[in-house]
Amino acid sequence: QGYYTRGGGIGESGDFVTSPEISQIFGELIGIWYISEWIATGKPKAFRLVELGPGRGTLTDDILRVFNQLASLLSKCDVSIHLVEVSPKLSEIQALMLTGGKVQSNPEDNSAYMKGISKTGIPIFWYKDVQDVPAGYSFYLAHEFFDALPIHKFQRTEKGWREVLVDIDPEVHDQLRFVLSPSSTPATENFIQPEETRDHVEVCPDAGVIIQRLACRIEKEGGAALIADYGHDGTKTDTFRGFHNHKLHDVLRAPGTADLTADVDFSYLRKMTQGRTATLGPIKQREFLKNMGVDLRLQVLLQNSRDTATREQLLRSYDMLMNPTKMGDCFNFFALLPHHRLVHPDKKHKPESKSPIAPVAGFGELLLK
Ligand code: SAH
Repeated sequence: QGYYTRGGGIGESGDFVTSPEISQIFGELIGIWYISEWIATGKPKAFRLVELGPGRGTLTDDILRVFNQLASLLSKCDVSIHLVEVSPKLSEIQALMLTGGKVQSNPEDNSAYMKGISKTGIPIFWYKDVQDVPAGYSFYLAHEFFDALPIHKFQRTEKGWREVLVDIDPEVHDQLRFVLSPSSTPATENFIQPEETRDHVEVCPDAGVIIQRLACRIEKEGGAALIADYGHDGTKTDTFRGFHNHKLHDVLRAPGTADLTADVDFSYLRKMTQGRTATLGPIKQREFLKNMGVDLRLQVLLQNSRDTATREQLLRSYDMLMNPTKMGDCFNFFALLPHHRLVHPDKKHKPESKSPIAPVAGFGELLLK
């Protein structure tokens, strides 16, 4: 009966709005990122795009439009979409957006709970857990997914680490309060890194488990993961907060009715890959999008739009994504890639014998020839 299981309030009329809901350019550039990785790894015969927490399905829809535009390039490649979604309500909205609502529930031939065909003819499958997604060369995508997973909170005290717990307030009717555990707990013993220097820490073990799974798959089967979220690189402390109707909301009030979120600790994600993959980032959203050619894409859309209202809307949404005081600085991009994608395994021995490795798009400056 959680917030997302009942629908989640994404969009103007809900509790929060996300980048793909703001501008089509966001998803288009992410689509290009995957195509670029697919080309750089020698155009494998098939790839899966696996999205964790697809929300209303807008991001995948924009990516599928890019794949369709590049249909001649992808004509010999077997592409399929795999959505990991726990919310029955949101999976219905995704099905409507991506397939027009023509889906089959509990298909017998598959571990998915639902399947359908996209408007552009690509098969789409839905799962509750990333573990259910069949193995194989895959591109993973998680946008504003990890911040939605539950965290543990810890406070350093003179007596050592204590866990922040939720208790019933004995003085105020129908109210919860935060308390500190009187002694250490299994979580303080297991989730605090010995080298931790902060006094207050939030740890999301679920994120750690999922990253380990993705890293194992990418190490074994190839592909890449692109993770975008607001977050930090192991520096922030108390970031747990709630949103209701686009306004900050007391996290303990009316549980299940507000979006609860905590910044993603990318240093923790990096640690949880256990060196199985290389990692790139986190880099700021405005840098990543700039490196992906957001300015060029905006110019094309502006040139193609006939009315002033559309042009103004394009400029406003560009500003929302890129402005450092809006989403440009607080959102970050982070990638997992097979080690061989960044360094030739035998580079030390024969440095001149191989062609240079193609740079990974988005994480370095875009050079136009
Ligand atoms: N990526 C989308 C939506 C982000 S909201 C966007 O950018 O617009 C978070 C999404 O994660 C929702 O689709 C929610 O239902 C899903 N979600 C939350 N917890 C999950 C879990 N444990 N497993 C799978 N999906 C989950």
